Amino acid sequence: MKIICVARNYAAHARELNNDLPQQPVLFLKPDTALKRKNLPFFLPDFSSNIHYETELVFRICKTGKNIEERFAMRYVDQVTVGIDFTARDLQEQQKRLGLPWEIAKAFDGSACIGDWRPLKQLGNTGSLNFHLTLNDRIVQRGTAADMIFPVSRLIAYASRFFLLLEGDLLFTGTPEGVGSVQPNDVLRGYLNEEPVLECRVK
Ligand code: MN
Repeated sequence: MKIICVARNYAAHARELNNDLPQQPVLFLKPDTALKRKNLPFFLPDFSSNIHYETELVFRICKTGKNIEERFAMRYVDQVTVGIDFTARDLQEQQKRLGLPWEIAKAFDGSACIGDWRPLKQLGNTGSLNFHLTLNDRIVQRGTAADMIFPVSRLIAYASRFFLLLEGDLLFTGTPEGVGSVQPNDVLRGYLNEEPVLECRVK
């Protein structure tokens, strides 16, 4: 299983990190070992002093696909949830400054947190999905798929040109504005269309 992630897919978030808007999707990968086990807290790693939450819609790939056409792309995902792309922002800034890859800042153990799956069939139009994150019961991020620069179908089509998609792969689709740091004992909760689907404790 692999985890395909998209950076800078919401204009307001690209601006908050002083990035230009992309002409093509910006992709990066996390290994399967990045997936946080469901009943474990998120453990703050010792190599960073600034871990950020990034709340994202996450889609599950349901069949093998290569060079998928955009108009057929939604046939390749069957479930959706809310996830957190935990990011060592200090390391990422350092790597960006040096022109080096991001993996140590983005793909470390436990850095991919996902909630409970919901069947896409039950949720209607993917473009109208909305989500939010609370940090200690205060809303810190809100997003809607309608605000994505590249819609999910485009992301699937584009990613499948480079990476063979397999059943069980995950697609993190980018975060809206409002990212921020987490501290020990924080509690993060993710909501999909106002329904709670994710809880993550920070240790
Ligand atoms: Mn992200």
